[in-house]
Amino acid sequence: MIYASDLDRTLIYSLGAIGVPESTPGLVPAEVIDGRTRSYISLRCLEMLQELADRILFVPVTTRTIAEYKRIGLFQTRLRPDYAVTSNGGNVLVHGAVDLQWRQEILRRVGADSAGADEAHRLLREVLREEWIIDERYCDELFYTYIVQRSLLPKEEIAAMSEHLRARGWKVSVQGRKLYAVPEPVNKRDAALYITSHFPGRPLIASGDSLLDQCLLESADFAIAPCHGEIFAEQQERPVKLGYPFTGQSGVFAGDEILRYVQQKYDHLTGLEAGVS
Ligand SMILES: [Mg+2]
Repeated sequence: MIYASDLDRTLIYSLGAIGVPESTPGLVPAEVIDGRTRSYISLRCLEMLQELADRILFVPVTTRTIAEYKRIGLFQTRLRPDYAVTSNGGNVLVHGAVDLQWRQEILRRVGADSAGADEAHRLLREVLREEWIIDERYCDELFYTYIVQRSLLPKEEIAAMSEHLRARGWKVSVQGRKLYAVPEPVNKRDAALYITSHFPGRPLIASGDSLLDQCLLESADFAIAPCHGEIFAEQQERPVKLGYPFTGQSGVFAGDEILRYVQQKYDHLTGLEAGVS
């Protein structure tokens, strides 16, 4: 079995997202920068993940850049995944090194299917005003992220801008204070499927909270989403039938439920293989 999971707000949680006081028992630092913990994972979630990681292929799948991913100490020390997807699918890391075959393929697809980065930038800046933007970055030579004053963003204008970019082969996603604009071929599903193609016949299970995770969840054999984040919010606004469940609790401890779900699927699938029903 392959378990491909988003990280931020799915397995690891920044202080703004944990949803409980930082002093709550059962939290383990996942990312420490300059002596300060930037994100946590629940201890129970980590224990279950460590136990499973010996038997399944666990693949972190994140929109973080390569450098931001490598900053997560947890995945450099306690748990060292063989594969990871960073840059929202733009890079596949194998034992920490960039898979050049995938990188070349991504550049080819972006060149063929999406407007150039300059054009996307122009469309973004026609709408995004200077006073809304706290920070702007072009990440891993692939996509844009903006830290924004979320309360100032006009919903309709952003929706119209997103439509405009979509027609040009770019996807916009707003998560908390971050706005992402990513070329369509740079997505988590295709990168995860590139990895799974190396392991034919293994079922894929996925978890994630944002619209950038949606394609991954939809392509997996089994999936689960926490009851917070973009997918959940959209489901509250415009309910549609989804092929996967939400957790019962929000915040960092949703991670426990997600891992319990993965564990159950693993037990079920291996039980079937062994002929036990
Ligand atoms: Mg996330």
